[in-house]
Order: sequence, then structure tokens, then C-alpha cells
Amino acid sequence: MKQVYRACKKCHLITTEKNCPIHGEEKTSTEWFGFVIVTEPKLSIIAERAGITEPGAYAIKVRQ
Ligand SMILES: [Zn+2]
Repeated sequence: MKQVYRACKKCHLITTEKNCPIHGEEKTSTEWFGFVIVTEPKLSIIAERAGITEPGAYAIKVRQ
């Protein structure tokens, strides 16, 4: 079975789950574009601007 990557509509975290592992209730979307990998959120300007506090892969755009 092909694995589909999804992105949380709230924090943009990329996951294979239908619900965000951080937000739980928040549904993830299969319609997202581009991504950034954040390893050290405290040192990343992109992470700061996007409000990312946890390391991981994040979609740049998620269709709501
Ligand atoms: Zn989330």
C-alpha cells in the first residue's frame, strides 16, 4: 500500500496520520505544497516565523 503524506492544517507538521500527532483533534490534509525540515527550531528564523517549536518536517502551504 502506498503511503500518503499529510500535513496538519494548524501547525503544518507532515505526518501519515489522519489527525495531527500534536493537536489530536486537528485533521490533516493531503493537499499541501513544499516542505521545510526543522532540526533546531530555536535557531531557525523560518521556524520562528512559522511558529514551529518542535523539530520535524513541515509543509509550507496547506490547503484548508
Ligand atoms: Zn498540528
